[in-house]
Amino acid sequence: MTAYDFDLITIGAGSGGVRASRLAAEAGRRVAMIERSRVGGTCVMRGCVPKKLLVIGAGFAAELADAEAFGWQVTGAEFDWARLVVSKNAELNRLETIYARVLREAGVTMVKGRGTLLDAHTVQVGERRLTAETILIATGGKPFLPALPGIEHAITSNEALDLMQLPRRAVIVGGGYIAVEFAGIFNALGVEVTLLLRGEAILRGFDPDLRSAQTEEMEALGIDIRPRTLVRAIERDRSGSRVLTSDIDGNPGETIETDLILYATGRVPNSAGLGLEAAGVQLDERGAVIVDAFSRTSIRNIWAVGDVTNRLNLTPAALAEAGAFVRTAFQGCPTAIDHQLVPTAVFGAPPLATVGLGEDEARRLYGSVDVYISRFRPLRQGLTGRGGRALVKLVVERDDDHVLGVHVIGPDAPEIIQGFAVALRCRATKAQFDATLGVHPTAAEELVTLR
Ligand code: NDP
Repeated sequence: MTAYDFDLITIGAGSGGVRASRLAAEAGRRVAMIERSRVGGTCVMRGCVPKKLLVIGAGFAAELADAEAFGWQVTGAEFDWARLVVSKNAELNRLETIYARVLREAGVTMVKGRGTLLDAHTVQVGERRLTAETILIATGGKPFLPALPGIEHAITSNEALDLMQLPRRAVIVGGGYIAVEFAGIFNALGVEVTLLLRGEAILRGFDPDLRSAQTEEMEALGIDIRPRTLVRAIERDRSGSRVLTSDIDGNPGETIETDLILYATGRVPNSAGLGLEAAGVQLDERGAVIVDAFSRTSIRNIWAVGDVTNRLNLTPAALAEAGAFVRTAFQGCPTAIDHQLVPTAVFGAPPLATVGLGEDEARRLYGSVDVYISRFRPLRQGLTGRGGRALVKLVVERDDDHVLGVHVIGPDAPEIIQGFAVALRCRATKAQFDATLGVHPTAAEELVTLR
């Protein structure tokens, strides 16, 4: 008979926490899950899912505009942003109910409140003290906002997902996933978007051709991208907001009048106030919980998965980490996490997706690589006259012909990349790509016809 209340206490009911708790409960463990907010966490409540619903909603603007070229008479089409937000929220409520039911049916005890570690086996939640043999930290992350005068007038993606009115003009600070995705949503819906980058270009870390082609496509859609631009201060009065900028050397730059300022300058781990230090759990300088390849922290019985560990801050990574944690901790099958060859997509305008190495990184790691690239006008645009080109690119190891990276820009890029991620995991060669017949006519076939 164990002395603890539970076998596992999970703090945080996001993607990683829910997956781990359910699997552990299904494996016969007594599990409690503590959550102060909503079941579903960032991905379901404040990230991937609501964002994708807005992306889909915004995408109808181009679909409707293009429809006439294909014989449709579209009259009286009107867009109601508030209605989209309400529908999106109804869907999130539905998903939350499903998550809660799945956990209940698995036998997980839900505890509402903020969990704080008192020691390596005890968690305080409000007035209650719960104990467990094993503790899992899955508290995710939150938006990072730099300190500068007037920053309180800026919003983050959390609030952007729930605006009840679309602004006429928006300034977005940052050039990563969230900035590019919201620039696309707002631009498609007629908002004048200005993107301020402190660096040279959007999407640092992605393939260089992908970055430059995406920049061209976004600019062609009317998004005003300003590299090497810092925000000095934000002012707000009855007439609106002003963003006071400087160049990268601190020389004062333009003042931009706007209606909305969205900061998308990265996210930080949600690790403060959890009692982690008191329990002896080591954090890095950014506040991320330090874990080994099995997601075990510096304290033997405390584990951490997902964004709070700041490894690869993507939902599928958190899910994989959670599954590996349960196999390691409860099923006698130590499973290390493999964060290589993880496909990823940015649901921007246009969308882009990538798996494996970009050209720069491949050259750095392998020396000689071959690059195959094609930019082309998608078939539908022959009728619509709409501008914009798709891109496909392969990076191939010269010596042994293995494909190291696949990069795609275009309407179906996120759907296309998944299958190619399997190919890369199987260490497919360029010769095998070439021997594969295409599906015609598609954009995806370009990846097997590159010569
Ligand atoms: P990212 O890390 O992707 O990008 C942060 C951006 O902010 C970079 O362009 C960075 O510039 C810039 N930045 C950072 N600090 C400052 C600053 N002080 N002033 C000005 N600019 C700054 O973060 P996001 O917030 O876009 O997204 C967070 C994470 O969420 C992503 O990394 C991703 O893991 C996940 N996510 C995944 C999505 C998906 O899978 N589709 C969608 C949305 C989020 P620089 O390049 O110069 O460092």
